[in-house]
This record gives sequence, structure tokens and C-alpha cells, in this order.
Amino acid sequence: MEKEITKTDDKNKYYLWGRHYHKLQYFDKAIANYTKAIAEEPYNSESYFNRGLAYIAKKEYDKATEDINKAIELGTDFPEAHHALGNIYDQKQDFARAREEYNKAIELSSKQEKLHEEHEITLEEHKPAKEFELLEKPDVNFSDVAGLKNTKEMINEAIIYPIKKPELAEKYGKTVGGGVIFYGPPGCGKTYIGKATAGESNASFLNVKISDVMDMYVGNTEKNIHNIFETARNNTPAIIFFDEIDGVGGRRDATQQSFEKRAINQFLTEMDGVEYSNEGILIVGSTNAPWYLDPALRRAGRFSKFIYFPEPDKKTREEIFKIHMREKPIDKKIRFGRLARLTEGYSTADIKEVCDEASAIPWKEALEGGRERKITMKDFLQAMGKVKSSLPQWYTSVRKFLIKEEEEVESRGEYKGGVIVVKHKRAQEELISEGERELFKDLIKDVSKQTSTNHRILRRIRIAFARHIM
Ligand code: ATP
Repeated sequence: MEKEITKTDDKNKYYLWGRHYHKLQYFDKAIANYTKAIAEEPYNSESYFNRGLAYIAKKEYDKATEDINKAIELGTDFPEAHHALGNIYDQKQDFARAREEYNKAIELSSKQEKLHEEHEITLEEHKPAKEFELLEKPDVNFSDVAGLKNTKEMINEAIIYPIKKPELAEKYGKTVGGGVIFYGPPGCGKTYIGKATAGESNASFLNVKISDVMDMYVGNTEKNIHNIFETARNNTPAIIFFDEIDGVGGRRDATQQSFEKRAINQFLTEMDGVEYSNEGILIVGSTNAPWYLDPALRRAGRFSKFIYFPEPDKKTREEIFKIHMREKPIDKKIRFGRLARLTEGYSTADIKEVCDEASAIPWKEALEGGRERKITMKDFLQAMGKVKSSLPQWYTSVRKFLIKEEEEVESRGEYKGGVIVVKHKRAQEELISEGERELFKDLIKDVSKQTSTNHRILRRIRIAFARHIM
């Protein structure tokens, strides 16, 4: 790194080091380097300006004001400086002066055709990275998870036993850690089983939404990702659960933003664990759209295992109802088997909502002065009228990504002096590769089945049967 910076040295090398540390948000080191840069080139307005920004990041507003004013004095008046001063006065709650400075910034920038890109970036750099408070010790375990027998078994072997008995695992060559992708339709237990896995193995659980980590401000995304891994490293054994993992560089085309590219690189650096040890850390990435996942994240040693979470089958739905109702006052005539048949196409989250909705009916009655009564089958039927299944719609919306359709196209040609139009079918372009097709074959099979007309008709008949006849 040092070599690379020295080589580009047509500017003061300390200034470049300052920028380097600034990006990484090591503000003290950045300030020290800008100070050396100023000693070498006392008339360099940029060094003062950037040092001022670093002071803003450290909330040392007086020093920041001094530097930025010096930058204005040395250089030509530039809008970014006034914007920064506006920020300082904002922080000091001197809103009148803040407004004055922002107005100056607007006035100056409207005079310029285009802001100098480097300055735009520099301005953004002083926004501090988010503080994450995401460490949990979950109180759910496998006894709270309905169904998913094979998944639990796999997790036991790959995660829980090595965490519980690390010496034994080591002796037989099993290591704790690595990356796993959980994928499948929304609301079918990916997060929940992640939490239960941490609860079962007494590990720390870090629940991270990718959209909370991504930050367009320079350096912040990298810093956020680094902080998350560091928190896990300080609290092993730990499971980091990245929800919406496809959001890290989810777009593989040219429109991918630079901060998305940087996020992937940071992810890879942290996951490869060259600089830091990731022993005792399991990284789980969760997604409803695995086809968006950047292939770099799939390469060996990173997210190498894929676990599919299908919609709950009949037996699982029955268990979910039992788990969610186990501590509630239910009528003894409740038939869980029938509830399961009535909720074909419901996700686990939908079923939980049905349970909550049904429980709320007698509760509200009691609140309004009625007698306290048990939750009945009728309450469930009423709740199902309100909470509809969300999965059929989801399958339809993802079908186009996974299943090659035939499209109708028109060809025009000349025939005997006239124009003829011929319509024919043509296979659509592949949206996913052959390898991905194999990797997500369980999901593709389900999407194909669930969106077929036959299946949809039969599902309706089965539900109507459960509702009216049994
Ligand atoms: P998304 O993809 O939208 O993030 P998800 O697959 O992570 O969804 P969860 O948040 O894990 O879905 O599940 C939604 C809710 O359903 C959970 O809060 C939990 O209460 C319940 N739930 C999920 N799976 C189970 C299960 N196997 N047993 C009991 N309850 C479950």
C-alpha cells in the first residue's frame, strides 16, 4: 500500500497518506499526516480543508473552523468549504450562521458547472459510520422450531456439535465457522432457525440487515462490515446473520455502484480471514433471491454451503400452529390437522399472523367487557379471512428469473411482392447460469410446481374441502 502511494507522489505524500487514513476513518492518523503535509507545503489549501474535515469527524469544531477558514483564505472560495462550515454551525446549534454558510455554498456551486468529484467525495467522508447494537443471546432453541428436521440435523452436525465440543471436533478435523447461505421464500424460518441455532449452541447472534450496512458515504460501508466482524470476533462463538445478503453487490452489471463493489471486497477480506481469525464464527447469509448473489461470494471457503428453506409442508404447518398456541387458552375442539390443511400456501410468518389474529378476537371481546373465553376454531377461520397466504404471489413474481419461458415473436418477410408476418415461439434468454440452475434446483422445482395451473386449482379445491366439508 505504502509503495503504491509513494509512487503516485506528484502531490505531497503525507497528504495522500492523510486521505488514505481518512477513508479508513482513522482520523487521528489522518490529522497527523495532513499536519506533516502542511509543514512541507504551508500554502496547500486542500491539506487544511481535509484536516478540517477530519476535525469535524472528531467533533473538534474550533480547530475545524480554523482550518477551513484557512483553506478559504489560501485557495479560491469554494462551496464545499462553506458547506463544511454550515455543518459545524449546525452542530453548534448556531442555525442562523449555518444557514448563511449553506446559502454561500449554494451560491458558489451554482456558479460552477459541476462540482469537482474529489471534493464531493471528501465532503462525504466525515460522516461517521453507524454504531451497531446487534449482539443478542437468543432465548429460542430447536424445541421452538417446528419441522425442518433435515435442516436441524445438518445444522447440528455442521454448527452446533463443533461449537459445543470444540476439542472433539478439532480432533476429528471439524472446524467451527465458515459461511452458509439460507435461501427460500420469504417468512419461512431462515432468520428464526439462525436465532435458534445460536440459542441451541449458546453462541452470540448478530442479526444484520444488509440495507443497514450499505452506506453511500465513502468508507462507511467497509467500516460497518469490519465492525460487525470485529464484534463477532470479540464474542465467539458467534453467528453473524446477514439478512438480504443479495444486497451486497446484488447487481452484477455495469450499474453496480462503486460502494457496492467496495462492500464485496470488504466482505471478501473479512471472510477470507487472512488478517484476522474467524475461528468460532459462522457466517450465515440469508436471501429470497439467491440468483442475485455475487458469484465471488460463492467461491470456495466463503459461502460454500447452500441450504434451502421451502414453504412449510402440512405436518410442519400443524406443528407451527401447536408451537404458537402452546401457551394460549385454546378450545379443546381445535383441530390442528384441519388448520394445517386450511393454510396451504401460507408461509410460516403468515401462520404466526393467523395465530396472533385469532388470539386477538376473544381478547378484544374481554377488553370490551365480554366474558373471558377460549380461542376457538371459528376465531381461526375468521383470522384466515383476514390474513391471506403470501406465497402464491411470491412464486409468480420470481418465476421469470428462474424458469425459461417461450415468448411469441413476429418475423416479417416479403412474399410475392407483399409483406407477410409470421408469428413463432422463441425461448427467452437465460437469466441464470447452468451452475446456478443446478444449485437452486429445489427452489426452481417448487416455483415451477406452485405456479402450474393444475396445482393452483387443486390447492383451491383442497382448501375449500377443508373449509366446508370437514
Ligand atoms: P425473510 O426471508 O422475509 O427474512 P425468514 O425466512 O427469515 O423471512 P423468519 O423471520 O425466520 O422468516 O420467520 C418469520 C416468523 O415465523 C418468525 O418470527 C417465527 O415466529 C416464525 N417461524 C418461522 N419458522 C418457524 C418454525 N420453523 N417454527 C416456528 N415458528 C417459525
